[in-house]
Amino acid sequence: MTNVVAIVNQKGGVGKSTTAINLSAYLATLGERVLVVDMDPQGNATSGLGVSVNDGSCMYDVLLEGKPLEQVAVPSEVEGLSIAPATINLVGAEVELVSALAREFKLKRAVDKLPEGLYDRVVIDCPPSLDLLTLNALTAAHEVLIPMQCEYYALEGLTQLMRSIRMVRGELNPGLKVGGVLLTMFDARTNLAHQVVDEVRSFFGDQVFRTVIPRNVRLSEAPSFGLPVALYAPKSSGAEAYAAVAEEVVGRG
Ligand code: ADP
Ligand code: MG
Repeated sequence: MTNVVAIVNQKGGVGKSTTAINLSAYLATLGERVLVVDMDPQGNATSGLGVSVNDGSCMYDVLLEGKPLEQVAVPSEVEGLSIAPATINLVGAEVELVSALAREFKLKRAVDKLPEGLYDRVVIDCPPSLDLLTLNALTAAHEVLIPMQCEYYALEGLTQLMRSIRMVRGELNPGLKVGGVLLTMFDARTNLAHQVVDEVRSFFGDQVFRTVIPRNVRLSEAPSFGLPVALYAPKSSGAEAYAAVAEEVVGRG
């Protein structure tokens, strides 16, 4: 069965797209067939994997035209890794979905219709809000992965996020689990970063990944080359960290 993971945090700039790209790339390296679904109209996961969409179709067509996911999927440079791309058209999808029937279930239906055995895992990159696109991701997912930046305001907004997850569990997707909290952009030189790590670990316990993603310039450079860090700078600290997260994800089963 395909495992579906939504990468969610309504705050921007916490490492959602970086995690979607690099975790997925390492999962593919470990032999999984992975589909990244880009639900953010900004399309950072799409461009970060070197995929440009000109006249091709994107997630808009899946959500509003009922186009099969596997028909919009484009292969990336990494063997076993494809992406269902986003374009700015997705902004329109967010608006048009409001009046659609079963509007929260569009992505779930598309994922459920994937040919059996085509992908081992679907990783959904979400926009920085709790909008209908994110609700579609939460409804389609088996689990949520929450990236949290090791900064002062890391826990801010968390109450709202957990409330949304509970609401989705109650109304739309009873089986939704918090699959993990990933600490990102850790700077070992600051006391604050250590404090945030402690605080998040005491709040979430063993739901927090053992691996902490360091602040690493290679991770921020890689997207401009359209490559995951696994291909751009495989020996960097950022690459090693995402490789370790992929091992943890696979190890969790
Ligand atoms: P989000 O998708 O949550 O908005 P991004 O993954 O786009 O966040 O990350 C925000 C910015 O921070 C991007 O420019 C990205 O390249 C950079 N970034 C993300 N993670 C790291 C990291 N561990 N070290 C350095 N820069 C990072
Ligand atoms: Mg993003």
